[in-house]
Amino acid sequence: MAENVSSVKVNWLNTIFLVITPILAVLGLILDWSYFGAPGLLEFVIFILFYYACGLSITVGYHRLFSHRSHEASWPLVLFYSIFGAGAFQNSIIEWCSDHRNHHKSTDSDDDPYSASRGFWYSHMGWILIEQDKFQNDFSNVKDLEQSKIIRWQHRNIFLIGAFSGIIAPALLGYLIGGVSSAIGGLVWGGLVRLVFVHHGTFLINSAAHIWGTQPYSEENSSKDSFWLAFLTFGEGYHNFHHTFQADYRNGHKWYHVDPSKWWIGIFSMLRLKSNLKKTPKHSIEVAKLDMKFKKTANKLSSKNIDVSIFEKQVDNYRKSMRACLFEIHKARKELKEAMKNQSESIREKIVEIKLSYKQIKDELRIMFKEMNQQYRGISV
Ligand SMILES: [Zn+2]
Ligand SMILES: [Zn+2]
Repeated sequence: MAENVSSVKVNWLNTIFLVITPILAVLGLILDWSYFGAPGLLEFVIFILFYYACGLSITVGYHRLFSHRSHEASWPLVLFYSIFGAGAFQNSIIEWCSDHRNHHKSTDSDDDPYSASRGFWYSHMGWILIEQDKFQNDFSNVKDLEQSKIIRWQHRNIFLIGAFSGIIAPALLGYLIGGVSSAIGGLVWGGLVRLVFVHHGTFLINSAAHIWGTQPYSEENSSKDSFWLAFLTFGEGYHNFHHTFQADYRNGHKWYHVDPSKWWIGIFSMLRLKSNLKKTPKHSIEVAKLDMKFKKTANKLSSKNIDVSIFEKQVDNYRKSMRACLFEIHKARKELKEAMKNQSESIREKIVEIKLSYKQIKDELRIMFKEMNQQYRGISV
């Protein structure tokens, strides 16, 4: 959309909100500090609590669960994400996911609502400050989400829910623990400061994660992987992996990748509150990585007019054997798991057998004592 400056319509509500919240946060910090002293442990705890509740509601809830359907979640978690996602003040699930699905469908093009090809500031927050008629109220790509009663309720009451979970709740928590001064501390740290951090953390994924970093999996679009961004944004910084394998519930697929959103999903899956976690098969990931590495290295050689055709043949063979190897490992692991299951089944049977023997011993002991008592009574009679 190549509109000229004069045709740009400003979204005043969003503009005032995004400009005024950092100012209020800084003013709040100064006033809170000067009236009630330096922030203490309580302010820090409230900040972390609401930073995680609202931040994870965006990264796990809005993004990986609702936008990508990378797993399923029970209704208490859907409600949690709806309430605290509203507190992140990034609009309703329906609006956010509609934009995000458009972003993935048309990355970097004019149909991408926050296309990074229009520069850092546009993709960071510029797109929120203007009216984009073509994306407004067209929710045809989120019909699945409109089926949920909780999500429809959140959409209808988004500002009310946001005001409660993002502003009133941190102040109330502070008040209940430490009175009026802590209520102000809670409002400033858990409300305003936290809001600015969560806002710009999310915005950085649309801007920085499409500008700086590496592309180990694909060069099809501008998405990049960055450890530093992942560290700041609950794991969302592995954005090149995410754009390449968007159905995966993980963004950092290796166990050591810093991805708290993945760990959160894993914990709730163990508690049986999440299910059907989608994972890209390892052979697909490794082949994508191999192809990218080969492409980059081959390009370097080609730029020096070195013939790469012999390497192309080699990499074809390696790709085949690599895929076969990883597939075999996958199969063998499954068999091993199965064998372990059988082993534990036999252990369980063994325990039942031992318990039966134990009961038998107790029964025989009872008989023995009865006999002894009878003999004793016989002797004593
Ligand atoms: Zn996504
Ligand atoms: Zn992206």
